[in-house]
Amino acid sequence: MELTSLDVRTILGLLESGEASSVELTRAYLAAIERLDPRLNAFLAVTPERALERAAAADVAWREGEAGPLCGVPVSLKDMLLTRGVPTTAGSRILAGWAPPYDATAVARLEAAGAVVLGKTNQDEFGMGSSSENSAYGPVRHPTLPGRVPGGSSGGAAAAVAAGLSAAALGTDTGGSVRQPAAFTGLVGVKPTYGRVSRHGVVAYGSSLDQVGPIARTAWDAARLLEVIAGHDPADSTCWPAPPGAYCAAVEAPEGARGLTLGVPREFFVAGMEPAVEESVRAAVARLEEAGARVRPIRLPHTEYAVAAYYLIATAEASSNLARYDGVRFGPRGGDGETLLELYQRSRAEGFGAEVKRRILLGTFVLSAGYYEAYYLKAQKVRSLIRRDFELAFEEVDAILAPTAPTTAFRMGEKTGDPLTMYLADIFTVSPSLAGVPALSTPCGADAEGAPVGLQMIAPWFEEERLLRLAGAWERVRDGGAP
Ligand code: GLN
Repeated sequence: MELTSLDVRTILGLLESGEASSVELTRAYLAAIERLDPRLNAFLAVTPERALERAAAADVAWREGEAGPLCGVPVSLKDMLLTRGVPTTAGSRILAGWAPPYDATAVARLEAAGAVVLGKTNQDEFGMGSSSENSAYGPVRHPTLPGRVPGGSSGGAAAAVAAGLSAAALGTDTGGSVRQPAAFTGLVGVKPTYGRVSRHGVVAYGSSLDQVGPIARTAWDAARLLEVIAGHDPADSTCWPAPPGAYCAAVEAPEGARGLTLGVPREFFVAGMEPAVEESVRAAVARLEEAGARVRPIRLPHTEYAVAAYYLIATAEASSNLARYDGVRFGPRGGDGETLLELYQRSRAEGFGAEVKRRILLGTFVLSAGYYEAYYLKAQKVRSLIRRDFELAFEEVDAILAPTAPTTAFRMGEKTGDPLTMYLADIFTVSPSLAGVPALSTPCGADAEGAPVGLQMIAPWFEEERLLRLAGAWERVRDGGAP
């Protein structure tokens, strides 16, 4: 039995029965990281001593009947998540060597549930990208498709889980960064409702969009992580004051897809998308219908403006959030400037990568006097219309089915020369982000070369239970079980 190919649920079963220990599992994952990560570049930091210490404590907790919901399970964290005493760079040179003085709430909750953190995963710098090629520490490679990207920006998280370098992972999703890499690597990735998971201790990119979400092998695994990290946190004023739902139970709900009305938006099947993606998604919709769901076409008429609105709002927020990186408070200081301004300029010139600079310039421009109304304010109005589209759609349907991305994993270097084509890779993930609704990606087939296709499921605000019920039903239908 290959310990590193197991899902979280199976691991918990083995730990409970005593057939495996957390120390044994953790050693297996650490060995796999040592063997495979020089090629994948999924990890930016590995913390073996800390992991083995926590694994030993987890084994004691299991023996003493004090095991938490993730006790002894080896996981990884995207480098956007602050980890006390462990370097946290968000994929940027400007944070090189910085070790935060506290843990993100999501990290603290994961560890309190007994999870064993193996290390921090590579990503596009500050979450800005869709391929994990925009990291100051080199690109992440796809675990099974040579020459392809693993998606982004949580590409390290997805590659780590898909390659068996961690049993599950936490990523962050601003406009698709959990869902799209999950789709490209054949995993489940959940972006919760905005406000469901605390952003405290998460490196800020677009604060009105950012959410932490799990990447895992199965819906149940993702549900278990979400149950642990979700819920109110007084340290984040945008975190909704409600307890998390029973997400694992939802995955197993016996009614499955029966009785759900599912909408298929015409705007999510566009010219230029890969035929294999459209075919796989349509086939999945048909199978869910056979399994007892009602399916109907819907309209989300403002979808065509979503990418433009997203890249105005996200860059505007980023330009403000990234102003704090001045070479004084965090990370390396650039050169010996004559003046304070020169110090800032050199630190930022040396510390930020090209894509981050582009976004800061764009975001500063769209917020500047004279252009604010034409760009930023206009984008906010479009955002309201997109949100309204979803409100109207959810008056008619319980959930929405769509592709996660217009293509399967694309080739490394294919889109790096043209930022606009890279931005278009997010065409199906940014509108749920702008609306704030929960969405997930689950595998639904592959193209002729074996590259996985992701089926995106979207539910109304705070209906993660319904979302996971549907994901569980889909897994059973897909894998040939009873719906
Ligand atoms: N690719 C999108 C961007 O670059 C989304 C990234 C994300 O969700 N962090 O903004």
